[in-house]
Amino acid sequence: THFGYKTVDADKKADMVAGVFHSVATRYDIMNDVLSFGIHRLWKRFTIECAGARPGMKVLDLAGGTGDLTAKFSHIVGETGEVVLADINDSMLKVGRSKLRDKGIVSNVNYVQANAESLPFPDNTFDIITIAFGLRNVTNKDAALASMQRVLKPGGKLLVLEFSKPKHAIMTKAYDLYSFKMLPMIGKMIADDADSYEYLAESIRMHPDQETLKGMMEQAGLEQVDYINMTDGIVALHRGYKF
Ligand code: SAM
Repeated sequence: THFGYKTVDADKKADMVAGVFHSVATRYDIMNDVLSFGIHRLWKRFTIECAGARPGMKVLDLAGGTGDLTAKFSHIVGETGEVVLADINDSMLKVGRSKLRDKGIVSNVNYVQANAESLPFPDNTFDIITIAFGLRNVTNKDAALASMQRVLKPGGKLLVLEFSKPKHAIMTKAYDLYSFKMLPMIGKMIADDADSYEYLAESIRMHPDQETLKGMMEQAGLEQVDYINMTDGIVALHRGYKF
């Protein structure tokens, strides 16, 4: 079956996203490595470098899923700091929590089931917020960005790591071929779940490009917004501050 992603209304999109991540949770990490040829690790490492976290800081890893960024932040902020891994999906949270526990990461990480559109934290709470490969799954992105802006401390930094628009036509072609033909096929072969990976391809295609997302962040009240393209713009890291 086909998700008919482009025509469904907001509630249906939320249900569908929930279905996808319940379905992929236990295989999520391995599929990330397979489908990105391991490159997602570099994108995430670069995001951590740009975040500029320091010991004692309070970090929100939003749509944190299985906790790759949380694990890295946990080491940096140390015992005087705190990382909150927030995700709407309890299957992803469960996989994340047990993975981090196995790595011995326990004391400075907290897990919260929350919708990015209405974050359950007081104003001015976090020094850094990251949302990695999460924003495109959110139904109301403007509400989510406004909510992130609200819970950032003044002086705090938001980093949005997300698929974006390749800069060169040849890359666009190769990438479309890969994501629309290969992705669902590999998803079917390895995970017996073509639908989820078809959703992945479509959600990437629908996501706002670099300049549009920059404008949305500014609209949400973030300042000095810029972005860095990675892998020819297949992925972009947007940064913005709250002052
Ligand atoms: N950040 C992790 C990473 O980079 O590996 C996980 C990314 S995964 C592709 C997307 C995550 O976004 C899923 O865990 C999903 O449950 C979560 N998500 C989707 N919609 C959300 C929402 N409205 N609020 C919070 N999390 C959401």
